[in-house]
Amino acid sequence: MSSRIGILGGTFDPIHYGHLAIAEEARVALHLSRVMVVPAGEQPLKAGRHVASSAHRLAMAHLACAGNPFFAVSAIEIERAGPSYTAVTLQQLHDQLPDALCLILGVDALADLPRWRDVQRILELASLVGVTRPGATLDLVRLARALPGVLERLTLIDGPRLDISSSDLRRRVAAGKPIRYQTPDAVVDYIAQHGLYRHSGEPHP
Ligand code: ATP
Ligand code: MG
Repeated sequence: MSSRIGILGGTFDPIHYGHLAIAEEARVALHLSRVMVVPAGEQPLKAGRHVASSAHRLAMAHLACAGNPFFAVSAIEIERAGPSYTAVTLQQLHDQLPDALCLILGVDALADLPRWRDVQRILELASLVGVTRPGATLDLVRLARALPGVLERLTLIDGPRLDISSSDLRRRVAAGKPIRYQTPDAVVDYIAQHGLYRHSGEPHP
């Protein structure tokens, strides 16, 4: 029987416990053999909006995932030139790996999926798992209307509902507030050592 691996993409600017917890939840719920965390290079829908370099975001992802033997980090999108389209990433992984692919998304990202490039190809290449996220609601009727066939490919799971976001962590660092216990200590230390996000200057929502 071939195994199934989870793919969790994102900007991870920075990675936090919300990401790690949904990856672990999906891994256990769907019996995934491992989860690959894939930091985006240049993110098409967030162009110019991330504030730490790819190298920093990748390094923090490695630090955060180091303690879980089922987690791996892939630089596939960072190493690829041009915008990080998930369809291209899944095609590359499909060509390289024998495993079935399962794309893990918070429901905010899932609601956005109809806007993604080559979304029908994404549905062919991977099954989807949508995980609850505090503050995000999912209109399944609307999603199914925008993306016919999506429901057959989708498993929804009730995740740990951690109300943590990278944008909030960036704002907290800029305001001199603590981020400890929202992301692993190694990431907290890395951010401090490299002076990341101190001047991210993002407006409050
Ligand atoms: P930002 O605030 O910069 O958008 P973020 O916290 O949303 O950052 P992303 O890198 O945009 O993090 O998210 C990557 C993936 O992780 C997306 O599928 C997103 O829905 C999911 N995700 C992030 N945080 C959570 C959370 N706390 N609960 C559930 N899903 C989450
Ligand atoms: Mg986000």
